[in-house]
Amino acid sequence: PAAAQAVATHELTRTFGPVTALSRLDVTMPRGVVGLVGANGAGKSTLIKILLGLLRPTSGRAEVLGLDCGTDGPAIRRLVGYMPESECLPPDVSATELVVHLARMSGLPAEVARERTADTLRHVGLHEERYRPIGGYSTGMKQRVKLAQALVHDPRLVLLDEPTNGLDPAGRDEMLGLIQRISTDFGISVLVTSHLLGELERIADHLVVIDGGVLQRSTSTADATRLSGVILVEVTDR
Ligand code: ATP
Repeated sequence: PAAAQAVATHELTRTFGPVTALSRLDVTMPRGVVGLVGANGAGKSTLIKILLGLLRPTSGRAEVLGLDCGTDGPAIRRLVGYMPESECLPPDVSATELVVHLARMSGLPAEVARERTADTLRHVGLHEERYRPIGGYSTGMKQRVKLAQALVHDPRLVLLDEPTNGLDPAGRDEMLGLIQRISTDFGISVLVTSHLLGELERIADHLVVIDGGVLQRSTSTADATRLSGVILVEVTDR
């Protein structure tokens, strides 16, 4: 679909019992790299899960690449890659085995799955280690395996939930550079979350800030210097 927007939400609300995770969120996100910023509990993961059709809205609706998240789940999962925030990788298998398996599950024929896996692991810098068991990988390498899983079926958009979480400064820089290259080299749109405005400012074309499930700002990064008050996201976190 040739939708101009990567994501659009309309009065999107999601509650968990007494907790309102998203409150009447009205936002559009352009293609390119979009940074979704918010403190812990702001509602970032809830939004991503709704976009993937893994969670249903309590009310309102959401669209990804012009598709309706409530009804077009299978099409969205073909076009969209997902890197979850917390995911345990099996220690005894290699990156190649794991990513080929995922590619096969997404419907790729065996030969294509092997080729796509080799290409993708090369792009994320895991070519040398591709046959080694994941248990011996560093945290940064494990994050890059997760990124490869999100990319292997050649999506148009990837949703990356806190990809720099748990990484040291060098690992963060590496991951941020990789995200930027994915977008510029392959023309894949990226929605990436973080509780750190500073790191998303470096790579995002557009920034969306949510707090307590409420939209605070949606702005091009070029205009971000005018985001007075947004710095609170960092200061109040944790
Ligand atoms: P984090 O950075 O910690 O991942 P987040 O911005 O992704 O935060 P969410 O995980 O979307 O935030 O959570 C938003 C709010 O909804 C929080 O108050 C959280 O406790 C609550 N919440 C999320 N999922 C559930 C659930 N399955 N059951 C109950 N409450 C939930």
